[in-house]
Amino acid sequence: MSKNMRRDERKQTKKSLAPPIFQTATFTFDSSDDLEAFHSSETDAFFYTRYGNPTNEAAERRLALQEGAEASLLYASGMAAVSSVFLSLLAPNARIVIPQESYRHTRDIAEGLLTRYGVRVEIPVENTAESLETLPEGPVRVLFAEIPSNPTLRIPDIEKMAEWAQNRRARFVVDSTIASPALFRPLEHGADLAVQSATKYIGGHNDVVAGAVSGNLDIIEALREQQALLGSILGPQEAFLVERGLKTLELRVRRISDTALKLAEFLVGHSGVSRVHYPGLESHPDHRRAQKYMSAFGGIISFELDGNHEKADELVNTLQIPVLAPGFGGTESQVEHHVKMAYADIGIEGAENRGVPAGLVRYSVGLEDFEVLRDDLGEGLKKL
Ligand SMILES: *Cc1c(COP(=O)(O)O)cnc(C)c1O
Repeated sequence: MSKNMRRDERKQTKKSLAPPIFQTATFTFDSSDDLEAFHSSETDAFFYTRYGNPTNEAAERRLALQEGAEASLLYASGMAAVSSVFLSLLAPNARIVIPQESYRHTRDIAEGLLTRYGVRVEIPVENTAESLETLPEGPVRVLFAEIPSNPTLRIPDIEKMAEWAQNRRARFVVDSTIASPALFRPLEHGADLAVQSATKYIGGHNDVVAGAVSGNLDIIEALREQQALLGSILGPQEAFLVERGLKTLELRVRRISDTALKLAEFLVGHSGVSRVHYPGLESHPDHRRAQKYMSAFGGIISFELDGNHEKADELVNTLQIPVLAPGFGGTESQVEHHVKMAYADIGIEGAENRGVPAGLVRYSVGLEDFEVLRDDLGEGLKKL
């Protein structure tokens, strides 16, 4: 399937090249007959924006091409996408397996919310396919994985995980926000659903919060029906921004990945840096798999500094180019002392208990020139 759009796939009103923003809650009918024709599926008209909107549809079509999926569905945020997938696939006593190193709030939903509804949540410590073998026998409803994982960018053997899921009759759901579909397409490696926080690389400019799920038509249609009930839709203005972001996704992510690889290599040789987590480096435990699955290695670099976590604070304060801000995937570089940014409520010890090293700096590379970012990092590290 090509991810480039054919001319006949552009179906915009009044031959507009860009999708118009249908800023409307509802759609009108000419007559009762017209309404009846709509309900008997004789027309492709729209009804009410909670059930669908042409701007959203345009963005979903483009995303489905990018993911190599039959269909995609947008959500109000990445978390809305994740939680909706959980709600649709799980039930009391059903088992979900979710690795220890996942997006913090995904794990929080599993442990804090799903358990309240009687879902059995199992968390293997390692982000590897092998760790699944340690789980109790019996059917599992959902195998969830974040590939690459956050923040140490582990990349498990996806085919092995897909096989395990099939043997356990589980749906295999992969959140590949950190790679984006420009670099990695989970559906091509046996995943049933690919989840994205479109807030990150897809939106790409830190000006929209959005999420998406992609997969086979039947699952996406079921999610769409559920979404009409849960109400977690994306507004048409935001859908427009997602569609626009998708047009330059590949260019941005390739450029960002080129810069990130060079920065990671620069950091490796640097005194004061004790460890660099970047899948493009030979030293990363999953480098071979990253080469196999991904067309480039992405824009996140996590690194640890010699000594205590105060050095991480000093560095993020000293750097002049990247902004100190949560999130990643925008045009501006962003940096954070990860534990302080993402785990403030449970503190350094709480984060360490979840396997996140204190003092880990997460750097999201933007579109600035490599030399500028390198010199800034070099200066910052020298001052420590
Ligand atoms: C940001 C993020 C999410 C949540 O997305 P929001 O759009 O912020 O709700 C989920 N998964 C991963 C991997 C993320 O990075």
